[in-house]
Amino acid sequence: MDKKQFLQELNELDVAGKSVARLYCDISALAMKYVDFNKRANRCVHYLSIEFLIGRVFFNNLLELGVLDEVNAVLKKKGVDIALFEEIEDAALGNGGLGRLAACYMDSGAAVGLPLYGYGIRYKYGLFRQTFENGFQKEVPDDWQKFGDPWSVRKENESQIIHFADMDVTAVPYDMPLIGKRINGLRLYQAEGSEAAEKISGVLYPDDSSEEGKLLRIRQEYFLSAAAVGDIVREYESRHGNDFHYFARENCIQLNDTHPVFAIPELIRVLKTKGLSYRKALNIAQKVFNYTNHTILPEALECWDKKLLVKILPDIVSILQKMDQTQSRKHRKEGYSEEEIVQTHIYDKGSRRFSMANTAVFVSEKVNGVAEIHSEIIKRDLFAAEYAHHPDKFTNVTNGVAQRRWLELADPELCRIIDEKIGPHWREHFEELASFAPYITDPDVLDGFAAAKEEKKDQLFAYIGKTEGVELGCGKLLYAQVKRLHEYKRQLMTAFVLLRLYFDLKEHKIDGFAPSVFLFGAKSAPGYARAKGIIKYLNEIIKKINADEDTKASLLGVFVTEYNVSYAEKIVAATDVSLQVSTAGLEASGTGNMKFMMNGAVTLGTMDGANIEIVEKAGEESNYIFGARVEEIERLRKDGYDPVAWLREHPEWMRVVSTLIDGTFSDDGTGIFRELYDSLTVGASWHRPDHYFIFRDVDEYYRAVLKVNKDYQEREKFAGKQLANVVNSYYFSSDRSVKDYAERIWHISVKKTKVEEKS
Ligand SMILES: *Cc1c(COP(=O)(O)O)cnc(C)c1O
Repeated sequence: MDKKQFLQELNELDVAGKSVARLYCDISALAMKYVDFNKRANRCVHYLSIEFLIGRVFFNNLLELGVLDEVNAVLKKKGVDIALFEEIEDAALGNGGLGRLAACYMDSGAAVGLPLYGYGIRYKYGLFRQTFENGFQKEVPDDWQKFGDPWSVRKENESQIIHFADMDVTAVPYDMPLIGKRINGLRLYQAEGSEAAEKISGVLYPDDSSEEGKLLRIRQEYFLSAAAVGDIVREYESRHGNDFHYFARENCIQLNDTHPVFAIPELIRVLKTKGLSYRKALNIAQKVFNYTNHTILPEALECWDKKLLVKILPDIVSILQKMDQTQSRKHRKEGYSEEEIVQTHIYDKGSRRFSMANTAVFVSEKVNGVAEIHSEIIKRDLFAAEYAHHPDKFTNVTNGVAQRRWLELADPELCRIIDEKIGPHWREHFEELASFAPYITDPDVLDGFAAAKEEKKDQLFAYIGKTEGVELGCGKLLYAQVKRLHEYKRQLMTAFVLLRLYFDLKEHKIDGFAPSVFLFGAKSAPGYARAKGIIKYLNEIIKKINADEDTKASLLGVFVTEYNVSYAEKIVAATDVSLQVSTAGLEASGTGNMKFMMNGAVTLGTMDGANIEIVEKAGEESNYIFGARVEEIERLRKDGYDPVAWLREHPEWMRVVSTLIDGTFSDDGTGIFRELYDSLTVGASWHRPDHYFIFRDVDEYYRAVLKVNKDYQEREKFAGKQLANVVNSYYFSSDRSVKDYAERIWHISVKKTKVEEKS
């Protein structure tokens, strides 16, 4: 980018009388003028994901272009506060961790100089915006494009037609630059042509409880897969014509979870239309695809009814069916037992469904989990049969987060403290953060850090005062649990701990409690009744606590509205204690935990997902671990677990849990609190009682919350624990993750691509 030229033009920009949205578009468009996409490399990686939770790109892009400070200065001179642009809505084309991971990987690919290209859907409406009505979540459509989309370029001439049996849909690409050492692209497709076509890129995760809803989901997944494959093949043909010998050498496709797995049969279908045999096409596919698994929750592993699929994608069905036959023959030859064949097959004759995960595992060269423990669990459980015969297929890449957004942008105060001791070089070579280690016992650094933390809390609390109308005061210890609302993440367990804390404080059962705030942020899937019930319950608890004059000075709660990437940036920087309390074995990795760590929060959590690696790197003494480990949970699942007996033996908890049904709190007659109570004590639908083992862990959780509160009061010593987390967080940079992918899975090197010429 020609920085000088850009800044000069910015200087000349007329700002008088322009709205924020207008200024945003003008400045972004000006920057875009100076963005040159890199030419393709000899080998490219294509990252297919149904979600990209990008967030706000304005600040991040200016930072990556290396002009953020200068733009800030120029605007100041013109009387424009750059903070105004915080009004610009997040691009929330994703739901949570999965989509945010994809966005961080795009950022890191460009930053470290890998030719990594994203493919996704340009939803008209992203994840809904959340409001609360009497404590209940309400969903409002997210019209993220109302401020314009100045960072995207519509590429009409690279549109394609996607065929379904009952309609044709035009896929129009929009390219967003990914800025770093390289300038890569994120290509998002918009569906056009008819009203029915437009629906395909209408909303993220449409309700799929009806058959029509399921068909729409299938259409979305195929739309993304076919558009990406078509684009990759078109690009290849422009260089090699009809000779597909080099296709696998030049292209690598990473499937982010099972949503884009249709890309596999689609590639085979397309190669067949180019004259290749099914065998050859399958062979190429087996060298091109890799699959990342993100969950072992059975309800999240996609299987599609043949009956549905055949209605709109008959050709894909025949290819999947043929693949299933090839697979059975191959597996028999390789000595899979009958049981193993059943476990791995693509098509299940009994249920007449196709397993997208099994399709991905069969074809992919590499399959990875997203944290050490998760990768072990998928080898042992979910894909045990395949692992027994093809152990080399499996690998691990622990997730990471982009430190540019999650540390540099989120917490410049902390960054300055680091710069003062080790200079700014670590910002580009994040592993050099390790050289800050000798300073984390320096009393001046510890004091400086504690003061910076207070400042971040003040900033956050001021923002919360303004947006939520809740006054949180100052000088408080901040505990935070922010993430999607799901029973396995156990926000309900935190609700119980918070209530117990309140009761015990009110009855003077706790000595020397440091005044604390419990902060929650979460959206629930619109159709997930129990999750919505948990939001209401938390809001009721918080209302009660915040109104109590006896305890108010010691304990407050807040459930922030509309938790999203931009909110997360503020929260992770301010938090002292990061609550990561999923049932062991169920959180594949988590990335929220990493963002908190990077900003100097200690983790209070279970041995699950990446928490295990966080504790391994930063030390058990700098974090607070409690609860059952995976082995124990598995034992309890097998040998039996009696939550009702436990409750009976623990009256102090019975009192807490009973508030779900004893009238302490009102659920406005919906009966949802009763359902929550029943889900813990008698089971609900397919769940056994207390399916997520809250009562196994809740008391230990409570003790850990008290312990951390006590430790916090030795502020300097506690700051040392927090800084131990900062120093060791370099491992959780997504720069490291994409380099691991490059080496273990993609077989591309960072060095070679660095010298690629610009287009
Ligand atoms: C990082 C992030 C997540 C993922 O959080 P987990 O705690 O790992 O589940 C979800 N939503 C947003 C907005 C995020 O920034």
